Amino acid sequence: MSNPIMSRQTFDVAIIGGGPAGGHTASLIAKAGYKVAIIEEHQTIGQPVQCAGLITPRCFDMVSHARHTVLNELKGAEIFSPSRTIMNIGNDKVQAVAIDRARFDKAIMDKAVDSGATLLQGNRVSAIQIGKPCVISLGEQVIESKLVIGADGAKSQTRKWLGLSEPEYFLNGIGADVSGLDIAQDRVKVFFGNGIAPNFFAWIIPAGEISRVGLCVRDGQGTANDYFKMFFEKGNAASILKGGKILATHSGIIPLGPLQKTFSDRAMLVGDAACQVKATSGGGIYPGLVCAGHCANTAIKALEKDIFTAHQLSAYQKAWSADIGDELKKAMIMHRMFSSLGDKELEEIFGMLANAEMLDIINQTGDIDYPSRLGWMLLKKEPRFLKYTGKFLKYGLIDW
Ligand SMILES: Cc1cc2nc3c(=O)[nH]c(=O)nc-3n(C[C@H](O)[C@H](O)[C@H](O)COP(=O)(O)OP(=O)(O)OC[C@H]3O[C@@H](n4cnc5c(N)ncnc54)[C@H](O)[C@@H]3O)c2cc1C
Repeated sequence: MSNPIMSRQTFDVAIIGGGPAGGHTASLIAKAGYKVAIIEEHQTIGQPVQCAGLITPRCFDMVSHARHTVLNELKGAEIFSPSRTIMNIGNDKVQAVAIDRARFDKAIMDKAVDSGATLLQGNRVSAIQIGKPCVISLGEQVIESKLVIGADGAKSQTRKWLGLSEPEYFLNGIGADVSGLDIAQDRVKVFFGNGIAPNFFAWIIPAGEISRVGLCVRDGQGTANDYFKMFFEKGNAASILKGGKILATHSGIIPLGPLQKTFSDRAMLVGDAACQVKATSGGGIYPGLVCAGHCANTAIKALEKDIFTAHQLSAYQKAWSADIGDELKKAMIMHRMFSSLGDKELEEIFGMLANAEMLDIINQTGDIDYPSRLGWMLLKKEPRFLKYTGKFLKYGLIDW
């Protein structure tokens, strides 16, 4: 793709960040006939990859043009307790897919460009000035637009420039592409334990010829790198990972805690920039795409009316909150509660879940994108969970 930047260009909408959220938002606005610029600091869309690339097939309801990036279909999970008790869940249905994340982002961007958006890659936005017009500085170059959309990821500078609030906290993630593992291709492996990945979990995802191995830890809980080394060498997965060869590693951060406000005069945030992430899994691709749809609709309505006030753009917050805001909040409550558990309590919960009736509920109701449904069903079914009532109250579950 060429880089058609000149010293000053004018667009209806300037989108900062060319990840899935920015690319999909751009596609939808451009398709409606508006002039859209996507400004991406990296030279190559999708690179560097900072993701395990596990999504649900329902993502393709929104970006069917990226379906060819699926590497492997997953029908269940083997979940390891801290003491290595294994719970097997899943059925014959494809629950999730492993994607080639770099090609996924590129497919979304190609569609945006085909829809008429202009991609300005290899350009870092260094400042924005909100006004009529908005002025976006890329070093010596300048873009002018009626509206700015910050899709610039977890560390979003746009969020700071707009003075919007920061995430509650970040998870630090690390991942590796590993070859030579002899594992079932239709099951993801998930490992819990405070000595493995404090406050979160570790994973092994079969993705065809390679496997994706990684973990996240909460900011301030030691370095993800050290935990990863331990996980690989002497943790619960060491025997599975033995003989595996690390081909590449990546790291990144995940913002948790959906923002109360994702808009201001002439500006909106979408995707990780808006902390639209499922706290239970750290997955941001599905919620980012859902919210991109709402962001694009609000932008199109504002352009039709030629009104870009915060009041006009508040429709975006209402739309995404009504759609998945509640689910993201509940996932955050579940994550907070889960993070407070010690290994002994995790083992206890494993014990409560390891029976045919509970496994049946998990298999029938479990959904990575909508985890609260399962959480609620399990709570209703297992009275022994009431033991954790104090924690439920503390972490907000009472507002469920
Ligand atoms: C270790 C790890 C594993 C993960 N695994 C999964 C997973 O399995 N499934 C899942 O759903 N999610 C996963 N995620 C989360 C997922 O990667 C993000 O939610 C997703 O990338 C968010 O998309 P986005 O478009 O909002 O932001 P991003 O994909 O981060 O895109 C933002 C873009 O903005 C660009 N940018 C930033 N600042 C500027 C600037 N000033 N000027 C120009 N460009 C700029 C960046 O270069 C980047 O390309 C994982 C994250 C980590 C860290």
